[in-house]
Amino acid sequence: MDHQPYIPGMSPADPGPLSRFTPPLEEGVISRWLPLHAPPSPALAPGASVDAAQGKPGSWLLDPFGFSPRLVLEAARMGYRVLVTVNNPITRFLLEMSANPPPEADFKAALADLAVLKKGDERLGVHLQSLYLTTCEKCEQQIQADLFLWRKGEDAPYARVYTCPHCGDAGEHMVTPEDAERARKIAATDSLHRSRSFERVAALNDDVRFYVEEAIEHYLPRPLYFLTTIINRLDRLDLTPERKRALYALILVACDAGNTLWGYPSERPRPKQLNIPNQFREFNLWNQLERGLGIWTETASGVAIEAWPKVIPESGGISIFDGRLKDLAHEVDKEIPIAAVIGSVPRPNQAFWTLSALWAGWLWGKEAVEPFKIALRRRRYDWAWNATALNAAFTHLLEILPLDTPFFGLVPESEPQFLTSVLTAAAAAGFDLHSLALRTEHDAIQLLWRRGEHLRRETNDADIDDVRSAMYEHLVERGEPASYLHVHAAGLIALLETHALKKRNQEFDEALRMTQSLMQKALQEDERFIHHSSGDGVDTGLWGLNIRPERSEAQSKDDNQQAIELQTNKRDSSVALLPPNDMYESLSDRVEVAIVTFLQKNPNSIYLEIEDDLYPQFPGLLTPSKAIIYAVLQSYAERTSAAWSLRPEDVASARRNELNNITSMLEMIGTRLGYETSKEDRNTLWQEGGQTAYAFHVLASALVGRAIHETPYPPEKTILVLPGGRAALAAYKAQRDPTLAARMKKIRIVKYRLLRALVEVPVLTRETFEEQITRDPLEKSTAQLMMF
Ligand SMILES: [Zn+2]
Repeated sequence: MDHQPYIPGMSPADPGPLSRFTPPLEEGVISRWLPLHAPPSPALAPGASVDAAQGKPGSWLLDPFGFSPRLVLEAARMGYRVLVTVNNPITRFLLEMSANPPPEADFKAALADLAVLKKGDERLGVHLQSLYLTTCEKCEQQIQADLFLWRKGEDAPYARVYTCPHCGDAGEHMVTPEDAERARKIAATDSLHRSRSFERVAALNDDVRFYVEEAIEHYLPRPLYFLTTIINRLDRLDLTPERKRALYALILVACDAGNTLWGYPSERPRPKQLNIPNQFREFNLWNQLERGLGIWTETASGVAIEAWPKVIPESGGISIFDGRLKDLAHEVDKEIPIAAVIGSVPRPNQAFWTLSALWAGWLWGKEAVEPFKIALRRRRYDWAWNATALNAAFTHLLEILPLDTPFFGLVPESEPQFLTSVLTAAAAAGFDLHSLALRTEHDAIQLLWRRGEHLRRETNDADIDDVRSAMYEHLVERGEPASYLHVHAAGLIALLETHALKKRNQEFDEALRMTQSLMQKALQEDERFIHHSSGDGVDTGLWGLNIRPERSEAQSKDDNQQAIELQTNKRDSSVALLPPNDMYESLSDRVEVAIVTFLQKNPNSIYLEIEDDLYPQFPGLLTPSKAIIYAVLQSYAERTSAAWSLRPEDVASARRNELNNITSMLEMIGTRLGYETSKEDRNTLWQEGGQTAYAFHVLASALVGRAIHETPYPPEKTILVLPGGRAALAAYKAQRDPTLAARMKKIRIVKYRLLRALVEVPVLTRETFEEQITRDPLEKSTAQLMMF
């Protein structure tokens, strides 16, 4: 497998509508991937073959999942024609609205039209807003609450949050008796509204009614009253088609805001299950309708969008296939050359699926609930179900696509079992994985498949030693502990390469279970691996290699030899557990060197340029996180407007001079304290009677791990000397690497400025020197020394 560099993008400034449920993807990724794998070519010559059309803007892409409107829009804007299969009316509506939203004026007019409808003698807008009236604690005026806070199972909220437009009082306050009374009053008529709200969605004898009821359970009486009051008037409104779309879009935002799946404080902001949090927020839904106006109009883009098979322009656009991929196979055949497949791979989400059915019914009536029925009845949202469904999709794709067609798959919220499910499903259908790029568990994994040969493949039994070797090699290559997801991915790739993820005729259920237990066994029953806990026993989620912490001079010479023995005789636990020497080149050290080298040559670079230089050097599972990149930049560089440059003192020539100065100071101080000083390689030694008292290792970088490894002196006599600007970076590295932290504890680390200060001290004794170097903690990089 030839892993591709991770393609960096930007977090969207505005997460967009229903962002709790749409895939969290960076923007700008697909527009950088497409030219690489479906590159633009000169205009098609007359008589050119269909193959030549591949990759030309205007040629076709296919998104078989239709789950990420933004991904599809970005590709369409690049000039591609994107065929999207969608069978969730809510996702379809999101896509249509994002591609081609009504003008802002229509949103405003639609909301105004709604507000002036009558509810008894009142205007509907006034009536609905009165549901959220509360009294300002400070000026006692009647105002609108922004939200109420509830505890699960209670019949009234316990707190309210508002910003008073009259006196400016703002924040969270306890509810008043009137607030509680208002909530209870609406609840008194609840059963009527609740049963009405079913009617629009499912017939009385419909067997999906049970699931719809379950979804409605996640609406409190007030938001349910609010929503049904509006929805029951929808048919009576005489709106232009554009205004109607605008109003539906606003209501959809209120439907999402109106349920109880808004924990407080927000611990799990992306719900997967219909579970009521112990404390939750109840939003003022009128405010949410108004907020929806901003959400939808900000997505405005004006991309051509049509229902398949209506023609879309060659300059790019979106063609929606309303149905299943299976049915598309008959339609598309080989007539449309698909240049590439793109898509955010969907994961099981019971909450979104069930709520979508409810919302679709509320907005468009019973027929809109039809596509959900199979899934609602099946009611399985586990990984085996996910793998089975994905496998079916991949199998249909194999029929549609020409051999070798690239497939760029994004896997957001990439937990280990999700990745297992995705890779197993694709492999079993005949897609060959060419690359897996993983940054952190918070970023989408980037996968590149190609449509493989249409033949039955050999499948093999999984070999635990293959998995262990792959995990071990990844940790050695990384040179520092990794998240479980990284180690798991390394193991999965090994199984994939040996065709051992799933046997033919094996159920996904069983295959996934076997893979999972194999992964656990590989790590837990092998002494080479350790699971790191933090000092107070909290799980760090990190896996590393079991490095013997105590080192003597004699041992270090044997490291390589022992590591070689270890690799040739893996199971013999009597062999010392030492990884090879290059383990001391940790990923974060290499990233530090790479960034400094780049900035040395390219001052005034923006962050994306730094990522662009870095990621090809560290492809696949080694992709550095944004956190480590920023830690290095903050240590070495400064930013003017958007561009980063090395600090003047960190330019190579300045650092070399400084290194020499510090070395001279060390000799000066040593001589004053009555030691014989000498230099040996990069170390300055203070000796007495032939015995080494102190060995100083002066660094310009934060490559602490390597420095400790290279210093042949006993830890209690070793002192690393760093620039003050590196202290925070070294501390950060210790934080992400418990093994390094343990090794750093055994030696002492002081900053340049301590030595500069000590040179100035008129009377310096060996005792005060010892005291000072012990009192210069790494974490504190602010000057607070020299109290004498
Ligand atoms: Zn007030």
